[in-house]
Amino acid sequence: MKGRDRNAPCWCGSGKKYKKCHLNRDDQPKDNPWSAVDVNRKSFAKKKCCARDVGLGPCDGGVIKAHTVSRGPNLAKIAENGHVLHYTATVQDLNKNGGKLSVKKVGIKDASVFYGFCGKHDRELFSCIENEPFAGRPDQCLAVAYRTISRELYGKDAAAHLRETLRGADKGMQPFEQFMFQKMLDDINTGNEAARREAKVTHDVLTSALVNNQPETIGSYVFEFESPLPFMFAGAWSPFTDFYGNELQNGYSEELLQQIFVSSFAGDERAMVCISWRDIGGAPGKVIAEQIKALAADQQASALFQIVTKHVENIFFNPNWYEGLGDKQKEHLNRLVTDGVDIIGSVPSSPVRLEIDFQLPIASRTFQP
Ligand SMILES: [Zn+2]
Ligand SMILES: [Zn+2]
Repeated sequence: MKGRDRNAPCWCGSGKKYKKCHLNRDDQPKDNPWSAVDVNRKSFAKKKCCARDVGLGPCDGGVIKAHTVSRGPNLAKIAENGHVLHYTATVQDLNKNGGKLSVKKVGIKDASVFYGFCGKHDRELFSCIENEPFAGRPDQCLAVAYRTISRELYGKDAAAHLRETLRGADKGMQPFEQFMFQKMLDDINTGNEAARREAKVTHDVLTSALVNNQPETIGSYVFEFESPLPFMFAGAWSPFTDFYGNELQNGYSEELLQQIFVSSFAGDERAMVCISWRDIGGAPGKVIAEQIKALAADQQASALFQIVTKHVENIFFNPNWYEGLGDKQKEHLNRLVTDGVDIIGSVPSSPVRLEIDFQLPIASRTFQP
């Protein structure tokens, strides 16, 4: 290698000179992988109120652990001895496809929390879903969608450091592996930045809907079930395809991707699932909600459950129900979770299978708030 090349910017895009970056990287000792995990954990513990300085009044009371699936009204209903189950991926495993996923126990105090709201905003903005039973009112649908998109945006902000943190994690790898590793970091970063921009736009739209009291900014369908559901969830994603795998939107053009919002609510004898979307023409969320609504009443809970398991990590199971599932059911869930964790939104490869029985209640009605 000539002196000039050694001083050129490194091929990996770090901005450093080659000699200070990838030169002889295959001979360098490996970094301790836990240091990256640690940085990751810290960025997810960053405290920041999502409703600060946006026209929703001043913050107060410090940033708290905010729940995205309500604890009292929802998580407590599916818990056994204060615990629920959820899927976790090992953090070191970046390219989660093929990564190890396991079902772990979590206390409901710590389930589905993020440091994204101050005490006052958390109390005021979500009182209509925390302190009143969910009835599918427009203000309730907006509040839950707003909380969900806030959590999404918080997560994308937190993940923005990932590439810088992991740039050196290819020490000791062979040159081709180094190249593949850096390419993967690049893809992850590109995907995250796009998702972050989209989440920010939607977050701004829903914030102004709250500020101006315009719940009609979103559209929703509420599915009501005859008996309680054994899982609870809240999440959002940008669907590339509809329920049957036909393309709805693609990430290729400059067009912003639209999200679908899903959340569930436990009643005492019944349960509800709310699907929402930003109410613009041809909203992907509306297409999917209508496809699920068109299914037989005894297939709707399963369809919702499977599509959410595939796309949302913020889903929790009743331990007895999960343990009681057969091998076929558990294997299918593992497949959905593993396939759903894609970084840049590849075409779904693991379809929903309505013939697999998850012992879920029958839908009694569907309505638009
Ligand atoms: Zn480099
Ligand atoms: Zn605040």
